[in-house]
Formats: sequence, C-alpha cells, structure tokens
Amino acid sequence: MLCDFHLHTSFSGDSETPPDRQIERAIALGMERICVTDHHDYDVVSELDFTLDFPAYLAAMAQLRERYRDRIRVEIGVELGLQRHIAEYLDELTRTCGFDYVIGSRHFIDGLDPYYPAFYEGRTPQEALRRFFEVSLETVQALDCYDSFGHLDYIVRYCSARGAGYRATDYMDYIDPLLRTLIGKGKALECNTGGFRYRLGHPNPCEDILLRYRELGGELLTVGSDAHTPDYVGCEFARAAELLRECGYRYYTVYHERKPEMLPL
Ligand SMILES: [Zn+2]
Ligand SMILES: [Zn+2]
Repeated sequence: MLCDFHLHTSFSGDSETPPDRQIERAIALGMERICVTDHHDYDVVSELDFTLDFPAYLAAMAQLRERYRDRIRVEIGVELGLQRHIAEYLDELTRTCGFDYVIGSRHFIDGLDPYYPAFYEGRTPQEALRRFFEVSLETVQALDCYDSFGHLDYIVRYCSARGAGYRATDYMDYIDPLLRTLIGKGKALECNTGGFRYRLGHPNPCEDILLRYRELGGELLTVGSDAHTPDYVGCEFARAAELLRECGYRYYTVYHERKPEMLPL
C-alpha cells in the first residue's frame, strides 16, 4: 500500500476524527509511513474555522509520532490554503513550524470557496473553471512555501454536478504553464484520490493532467487520499498506482524534513 500523504483529523475544521484513529487505520492497511496534513486557511471568510492551532497540533503530532514509532512512521505536515496576498505570512510560518511536508492548495478564489454555490453566481460553469485555473496558475508562480501542489483540479468535485462537462484539455493554456512552473521550481504535483470518493471516476487532477506533467518531465509526485474519516484512508490507492504506472510513472514521492524521497509505485 502506498504511503498516504494527505490526511485530515479533528485538528481540521471539517473533520471530527481523532488523529490516532487515522493512524490506526493506516496501520491496519499495512502502510509503513503516513503524513497528517491538517488544514490551515488563513484570512478567509468561511462558515467553518479552517485555521489550525499550531502549538496544540505540533505537540499532539510529536507525541503520536513517538507513540507509534514501532508500528508506523508518522510525518508531520500541513495543508495550507494558498493566497498571494499572504505569501510572506506563509513563508514565515513554514520556516518556523518544522513541518516534514507542506501541501499548498488553492481553496478560495476571489474570496469564495468553489464548494459553495456563491462562487458560481454570475458565471457559467466554464467561466468558473477558467477563473479557477487562472488563479491557480498565478498562485503557483507567486508562492514558494509548499512542497506539493494539492488537488490541482479540485473545483471539478463541485462544478461537475453543475453540468460543467469538464475536459482538462480545454484549460491547457493555464494548466501547461502551471505544470512547467512546478517542475521549474522543484515542486511536486499531488495525485489526490478524493476525486474517486466524489465519484468523478478520476483522481484530482485527472489522467490528462497527470500524463501531461509526466510528458513535460515532471517526476515529483505525491499521493494522498484527503481522508477526513478513517474509512477513506488509502482510498483507491491500488487503482491510483495502476493509473500512475499507465501514465508513465515508476516512482512517487514522500517527504521528511521538507526533502523528497522517491519510492517505487
Ligand atoms: Zn484541500
Ligand atoms: Zn485536504
């Protein structure tokens, strides 16, 4: 079983799962290593509180890492909500917190989360997608605080239900330079199996984007379930591994102390 490098616990505003339950589930699945990556979205307006209590989180994770050290290796990560106007704040945070791994994700666009209907008001689904990829590109270009860019076409989880008829190839004028930027900066692309959970039939991003990244020479590739509950830890990892091998990948990437290590797929 691949190592799950995208997991949420009750330290995230949208999960009630105690961290030890996520870890126990990973052990039961036979994982040798995982990374907990709770949410921190700073300076956003949202119904849920997506800010992380860093002192409590880091202390709890250090304790858990120690408690489980003979059974599984627990890396300490975070999923940061990227926004250009908080670049300096995020740089400082990642310099001082001592994470093993940082996912950078674009959750809020123009102050709105594509999870909610308000984001689509006054936009066709295609315009919404275009705006999402445009802002994602600008973000990846402007920020450097992350190791892997999370769930690149995450908006598709929500806009597909609105009949967007999503094809990644329609947005390659944004996606291509985004992938080139990741490669140029030595950042990883994330393959997030949450897309299967949303019944998209694809991970996020979809195969077209995973293929293109490989074609462009992309090698750093992380894998995560985005599980907020134990039943989704390692969700569809066998399917993802097969799909990634079909796309031409032989290795995936894990991180320790912000340094990449390659493991066979
Ligand atoms: Zn996310
Ligand atoms: Zn997540």
